[in-house]
Amino acid sequence: MVPLVLSAHVRAFFSCMSLPKSQVPMWALLPFRFHPTFFTSMQNTLPCITGFAPFPLSSCCIHTAPSIQLLTDQSDLAALPTQFPANKVVLKNMIYNELEDWVESMGHKKTRAMMLWRWLYGRDKWVESADEIIGIKKDFKQLLQDTGDFGALALQNIYVAKDGTRKILFGVEEGSTIETVVIPCDRGRTTVCVSSQVGCAMNCQFCYTGRMGLKKNLSTAQIVEQLVVASRLFSTELGPITNVVFMGMGEPLHNVENVIRAANIMVDLHGLHLSPNKVTISTSGLVPQLRRFCRETACSLAVSLNATTDEVRNWIMPVNRKYNLHTLMSALKEEISCKKDFKVFFEYVLLSGINDSLEDAIRLTKLVDGVPCKINLLTFNPHKGASFVPSSKEQMLAFRNTLIDAGLLVFMRESRGDDQMAACGQLGEPVVPEAPRLRVPARFHSALAV
Ligand code: SF4
Repeated sequence: MVPLVLSAHVRAFFSCMSLPKSQVPMWALLPFRFHPTFFTSMQNTLPCITGFAPFPLSSCCIHTAPSIQLLTDQSDLAALPTQFPANKVVLKNMIYNELEDWVESMGHKKTRAMMLWRWLYGRDKWVESADEIIGIKKDFKQLLQDTGDFGALALQNIYVAKDGTRKILFGVEEGSTIETVVIPCDRGRTTVCVSSQVGCAMNCQFCYTGRMGLKKNLSTAQIVEQLVVASRLFSTELGPITNVVFMGMGEPLHNVENVIRAANIMVDLHGLHLSPNKVTISTSGLVPQLRRFCRETACSLAVSLNATTDEVRNWIMPVNRKYNLHTLMSALKEEISCKKDFKVFFEYVLLSGINDSLEDAIRLTKLVDGVPCKINLLTFNPHKGASFVPSSKEQMLAFRNTLIDAGLLVFMRESRGDDQMAACGQLGEPVVPEAPRLRVPARFHSALAV
């Protein structure tokens, strides 16, 4: 099915409902790829649609369980578009120089590339079709209409957790789904957590996404589009997106080429213009790709550490069997020594009885010695079928205090969005057959929930 550009249809829908323009919701003026069943769903979901005034998208979705969805039943979801135009150039797949070359190769002046770039990524622009662009020459607009594909994802659904965290579901080609999380913060910061793959090959034992296995890598456009759509949907309500973390579905550095390209688009001065130190790529420890990342971008790096011995890490993060703690930490020290004022974030999910002892805390201080860093201590977010148990508050505090006493910079991160499975390690939906559970070292059997 061919994806639809929504704006014209939505405008028509609201005009059918006899709404004055002032009462047409902001989001209706934004064109997205929706399936036509959306309109029927909207009529079902919002029977009293006339008579409402301001109507931000989120206000129709805010809910506590059970969730209210934009699309009302699963048969609607199954009917969402799965085909994307094959004969068009996906504009967001290109970094700026490539866009310039493409514009020139199509017989237009290079300077038009900058104009297009600003319409794609500039603040409050984020256009989804050539029809929305104003002030460009007719022949250039025609070219974009005929050959340019502005989108890369199909918006499927939005869930809002009690704490205001939003989880956006997008369809990608071949019927796969990815999840993007928007995390508002009361200190004027809004973070978008983007996915880089459908599923993940790393099989970290505490992670729901890991149980899916890897389905596919996302393209540059599919990664960038998550941020663009989040900006379009939520900037008016939540303020500008200030931070991006690559901590959604997937191991970003397993898709290193597209992740570096997407990160470079996100920090481009004339487009999305995020500060490089506000764009953080997380890795489970793929050492060669980590070296490449450090050399090719100025973005921030987070390393998901989660254990202080190879015995435990080999079990809970099997990537350690290839790149063990010594190899990982040596590579980090080497790469960071060439960077000025650079600090690595170490992520450490505390699992009761597995990695949260005071001996672990002391080992951690030795492990990170010589690496300029900040440490984020995270609560384990339980999910269906998980046998790990979150550490108690007391144990987390004792662990943190040991690190602080050793002079480390430590933050305790609260879970966000866990009632909507939007928290760290909870994204995705495993299908049978799941990635295999690994053998539990005998001494940890008693620490797991039965
Ligand atoms: S924690 Fe990250 S790297 Fe590990 S399985 Fe989950 S998504 Fe993949």
